Amino acid sequence: MEKHDVIIVGAGHNGLTAAFYLARKKLDVLVLERSDVVGGCCVTREIIGGYRFNLGAAFPTTLHPRVVSDMKLKEMGLKFIRSEMMYAVPFPDGTGIRLYTDVGKTCDEIARFSARDAAAYPEFVQLARDFSEIFDLVRLFPPPDLKDMFSLVEDPADLESFKDIMFLSSKDLLDRYFESDKVKAALAIMGQDGYILSPYSPGSPPGLLFHLAGRWATVQGGMGTITQLMARAAEEAGAAIRTGVEVSQIVVENGQAVGVRLADGTVIGARRIASNADPRRTFLNLVGPESLEDKFTAKIRNYKTEATGFKIDLALDEMPEFTAFPGEPIGMFGIGPSLEYLERAYDDFKYGRPSENPYMLGLVSTLQDPSLAPPGKHYLYLWVQCAPYDLKEGDWDQIKDRVADRTIDILAGYVPNLKRAISGRFVQSPLDLERRFNITRGDWGHGAMTFDQMFSFRPNLECSGYRTPVRNLYICGSGTHPGGGVSGVPGHNAAMVILADEGLAEEEK
Ligand SMILES: Cc1cc2nc3c(=O)[nH]c(=O)nc-3n(C[C@H](O)[C@H](O)[C@H](O)COP(=O)(O)OP(=O)(O)OC[C@H]3O[C@@H](n4cnc5c(N)ncnc54)[C@H](O)[C@@H]3O)c2cc1C
Repeated sequence: MEKHDVIIVGAGHNGLTAAFYLARKKLDVLVLERSDVVGGCCVTREIIGGYRFNLGAAFPTTLHPRVVSDMKLKEMGLKFIRSEMMYAVPFPDGTGIRLYTDVGKTCDEIARFSARDAAAYPEFVQLARDFSEIFDLVRLFPPPDLKDMFSLVEDPADLESFKDIMFLSSKDLLDRYFESDKVKAALAIMGQDGYILSPYSPGSPPGLLFHLAGRWATVQGGMGTITQLMARAAEEAGAAIRTGVEVSQIVVENGQAVGVRLADGTVIGARRIASNADPRRTFLNLVGPESLEDKFTAKIRNYKTEATGFKIDLALDEMPEFTAFPGEPIGMFGIGPSLEYLERAYDDFKYGRPSENPYMLGLVSTLQDPSLAPPGKHYLYLWVQCAPYDLKEGDWDQIKDRVADRTIDILAGYVPNLKRAISGRFVQSPLDLERRFNITRGDWGHGAMTFDQMFSFRPNLECSGYRTPVRNLYICGSGTHPGGGVSGVPGHNAAMVILADEGLAEEEK
């Protein structure tokens, strides 16, 4: 029987990162990926002739610099494109706000709506930056206990802020700083990106603050460039990667993982297995409850795994023109003109309906990277929020085109030339995302990113340190600390734990 030191189930960016760190220490690593391409949700593909769509992620906001430098991704050609404008939010009355990485410039924008809000903005951005720094401190290590997170904050004033971020809603927090509903909406909209919390939900500020910290960029050639280069780095370090190979079972004998069974029945042995599949898929489908204690299985079943969004990629014949920003090409934008609008969109989601008036994030990707479309054409990426996996009525295959039409109608209210410009579209419902990426219930983060499922509770106390109750089985994907997003950190951290168990622990840098 074929046998390896480590098998990694899944070549998402975290599986590839783990493979790199393990192979670099001369372990014999085999990565098995069911799709015909590596990258999982971080992938760029040609679906409509000449257009290269980011079918999942669009922004490398969370990609860890250590991973980039260790894997030498820049030396291999990875290029970030940064823009001064973070994003723009148009309003139905024809006004709009642009947010810049430059705080002063953003204050000038905000001052058009409220001088008081413009004065408050620098302090709010500082809060966002401080929070992101604390989060960064704990990213590259096994997760801290929640109680330890508080002890990282020394100044009592900072502790108050930290407590507010964890327990207030975005609305409550924004109300403390700002008066204009337009300003509040413009700030809140990014915070709701991909989270199953509304602006009125306690615990919702982290997403908002993280985005405002200003780490905006896109990747030349699309997000798939990252994972293509990661695969190259892993292979050059000595790992083998096989695509188009589905693992149907993680074979467990006497409480210990000993190999994997493929969909065609072949069994491949390994001393250790790391799963890049999400925790529910890993434990409920691949390991199976028969090899787990009932209490653990129940915890995994209770681990919240929910879709939040719906994806539309549009091929355009012309650049979208926003009424709110005449003559100015806009790259990144958000549609969601008030806190109440955002909350009502979430209400539909809560009750099992795709929202009638969804909020959405858009990126005219070709503004910065024309290589993603044929010459003179444009690619518009839309991540439409508040799309529940479970529908009260109907199923996604029946309704997805209607939901996409409605979304485009709403956007056309802000972009009059939109409908004329569309020459093709590719729509992915939460069900499609699940089918394409094998992410349970279409959840991009392999589990909701709410405080009850973060740090040492991700996915639960028993396996948040990347080891699991099954000996020699590890989890290395976004369902572990620090969570979803293209960061490479779960893969890095899991590899460090495996190396420690192999007696090959890396020196702290
Ligand atoms: C529409 C969308 C938009 C997003 N936008 C952003 C963004 O802008 N910025 C950002 O940072 N993040 C974004 N994300 C989230 C981010 O893409 C994911 O959290 C991240 O890519 C997950 O990486 P991963 O390696 O942990 O898992 P995945 O990417 O899910 O990879 C897991 C891999 O395992 C494979 N696999 C699963 N089961 C098996 C099996 N049985 N056998 C073999 N292979 C298997 C899958 O095919 C997949 O390739 C977005 C996600 C989506 C879907």
